[in-house]
Amino acid sequence: TPVILWFRRDLRLADNPALNNAADTGRAIVPVYILDEAGDGRPLGAASKWWLDKSLRALDAALQQRGSRLILRRGDSESELRRLIDETGATTVFMNRRFEPDAWAQDAEIAHSLKDDGVECRGTNGTLLARPGSVLNGSSQPYRVFTPFHKALMAQAEVPTHTLGPRAISTPDHLSSDSIDDWGLHPKRPDWSAEFEGEPGEAGALAALSHFLKSGLGGYGAGRDIPSRAATSRLSAALHWGEISPWRAVAAARGAASDGRVPGAEAEKFVSEIGWREFSAHLLHHFPFITERAFRPEYDTMPWRDDPKSLKAWQTGQTGYPIVDAGMRQLWRTGYMHNRVRMVVASFLIKHLLIDWREGEAWFWDTLVDADLASNVQNWQWVAGSGADAAPYFRIFNPIAQGEKFDAEGRYVRRWVPEIARLPDKYIHAPWTAPREILAGAGLRLGQDYPRPIVDHAEGRARALAALKAIDNKS
Ligand code: FAD
Repeated sequence: TPVILWFRRDLRLADNPALNNAADTGRAIVPVYILDEAGDGRPLGAASKWWLDKSLRALDAALQQRGSRLILRRGDSESELRRLIDETGATTVFMNRRFEPDAWAQDAEIAHSLKDDGVECRGTNGTLLARPGSVLNGSSQPYRVFTPFHKALMAQAEVPTHTLGPRAISTPDHLSSDSIDDWGLHPKRPDWSAEFEGEPGEAGALAALSHFLKSGLGGYGAGRDIPSRAATSRLSAALHWGEISPWRAVAAARGAASDGRVPGAEAEKFVSEIGWREFSAHLLHHFPFITERAFRPEYDTMPWRDDPKSLKAWQTGQTGYPIVDAGMRQLWRTGYMHNRVRMVVASFLIKHLLIDWREGEAWFWDTLVDADLASNVQNWQWVAGSGADAAPYFRIFNPIAQGEKFDAEGRYVRRWVPEIARLPDKYIHAPWTAPREILAGAGLRLGQDYPRPIVDHAEGRARALAALKAIDNKS
């Protein structure tokens, strides 16, 4: 009888412990992906569905090259697995574990229930450098501060040797599969994805990695802060869906350093960002409530404003602050936003507009191709000041100064906010400060072609500081 290989967030053939274990049995393998929209934790956002659609097609193509194919089923995970077990007689299900609390609970429930019927689920870690729960401090408690966490993580991370997976995979051919076209994951009417970026799938992830090793990693530390530059790896969606293992990314960066192709410090900076991904996953595992509530409870007393008009202006990139608007438009049009700008737009929503971080987190969840529950929540709480190891409360990003510092020549802003493109550099991050004749010379009618700021920077900052200070006093 064959064994089942249940793909979830490990959509790759290389470095895949569940696949390797399945292959080691010497039996035929039934590779399946189950789209469980109701039972799989938080429903996928629209941009994630776009990515998943292409990633599953790529996985199927890769399996076909090895003589197999991907079986697609849609519905309740356990019912679909049971159906497949009945159809194949399989008694073992191989899978890489998911560590988000809801998914973890679902997996445990399924494993328990199948066990009663003589089917064994064999879970492995295929998505993180270290299993959540395994990186604890001297008092066996989870770390709440990144730096010691990262140090401990690096000391004990599991770095398996690189494997390509079996060359040939035999799969019974009588099994039915849904057609991915019928799943409707790619948007239709309207198809807003024309400008979406990235190449979903394992081959795309490897191409992104090798491009990054050649042209980004060498100057990563400084380059990663410049939004107009393609200096980062763009691996976030691939890491989220497991199209590449994190240990492969780490080994590649360190390999480039040990070969002398890039300075060691640049490689370690990149590894520490992978470390932030781990920190986020571990925090969510230990503190599952952080998707809903502030890690530091006093922050849930923030006097959030209910202001749908400003929220809409933020979402659509019409706040009047060019760096904020450029970021929000990049996100809407490409499904991605540069990390520096993510921090700026998040700070603007939370602090200048005093709108609940959960609104921003939900918007990112729907629009980011790399939407990841742990990373998204952790980063939003970090900016809000309410998270573990968060930014101090008085850190309020100045959207003008951030633009001037990280987009000095206005390249990023001009690309995404073309209506102000003809303004001289001096005014590009604060168009409302430009004298009338400059505005006229740039063909810009403020308030018509491009909005005036929806909130005054100094007033917004003072209002946020007052609210945050009151909270800080409580802690
Ligand atoms: P690189 O700079 O090449 O970094 C390499 C990898 O490290 C990334 O692919 C990612 O997996 C990880 N990483 C980098 N920075 C962080 C970070 N701050 N936290 C956690 N992991 C990190 N990242 C997501 O993957 N999903 C999200 O939903 C997400 N939401 C965010 C929300 C906010 C408000 C902020 C400020 C950041 C968020 N990030 C999120 C983190 C970060 O912005 C992205 O991971 C990064 O921009 C992806 O681009 P890259 O792959 O080129 O990154």
